[in-house]
Amino acid sequence: MAEKLSGQTAIVTGSSRGIGNGIAERFAEEGANVVVNSRSQERAEEVAKAIESAGGTAVGVEADVTDPNSMEALVRTTVETFGGLDVLVNNAGVTTLDRAEEFDLEEWRTVVDVDLTGTFIGCQVAGRQMIKEGGGGAILNMSSLMGGRGLQMRSPYCASKAGVNNLTRTLAVEWAEHDIHVNALAPGFIWTEITDQTQSAASYTDDDIRDRTPLNRFGTVEEMAECALFLVGRDNFVTGEVLYADGGWQAYGWGCGDQ
Ligand code: NAD
Repeated sequence: MAEKLSGQTAIVTGSSRGIGNGIAERFAEEGANVVVNSRSQERAEEVAKAIESAGGTAVGVEADVTDPNSMEALVRTTVETFGGLDVLVNNAGVTTLDRAEEFDLEEWRTVVDVDLTGTFIGCQVAGRQMIKEGGGGAILNMSSLMGGRGLQMRSPYCASKAGVNNLTRTLAVEWAEHDIHVNALAPGFIWTEITDQTQSAASYTDDDIRDRTPLNRFGTVEEMAECALFLVGRDNFVTGEVLYADGGWQAYGWGCGDQ
């Protein structure tokens, strides 16, 4: 079967671990030239090497998504290495848990800076390049189930991801004339390092999450990579969409305990 991203070049931010790593590996399996990004050049190169060892094509490039100069350099290196840019996944994200009345404003700003402003910066630098190349493109923004729902202790995260959803719709409308498809993926609870850290500070257990999820389990990184592949495909008339991959959480009408 033909590889779905053959000959295309894709940047995946924050792809040295977790969902981003899974997306980078999956895109490479589908024939993409993958740019693995991390704030550490060493980590980015390590993951790129692993992808190359598995038969893919990848380079590792350090960049901080909150810094426009560093993101411009990431796009520049991508174009110098592979000749263009077709796909950007704004995957990098952080979360901090605290009660809203206690939330430290610096921590609030950090979450908004990475999750919302960092996503906009990524869209902006990639969008400029795609418009310049004139061949269209695909941008996928990583949202969250919590972009459409409230969850205690996560005010900047929920606010940022809700912002990501409407930023996605806005850019999809604005850049349709350039054939740039802009979509968002909103995962439910996926087991990665971020979940590990936040779960230990949360007031609900893993079993509470399973009980509240109709599929009765956490999602996997591989499942998120499959959704990402569909959303960057540009063969499906889908743009401006927020795809909830949450095991049925949003569809479920029953209560959710103290959440
Ligand atoms: P993760 O913490 O394992 O990965 C996030 C990555 O982003 C890390 O590699 C981190 O170093 C990187 N990163 C953070 N700040 C950065 C910055 N300023 N510049 C560049 N890279 C930066 O988390 P994950 O679970 O793989 O999450 C990936 C994305 O999916 C995030 O946007 C997250 O909000 C979203 N998400 C995750 C879940 C889940 O259950 N795991 C659910 C919904 C949404």
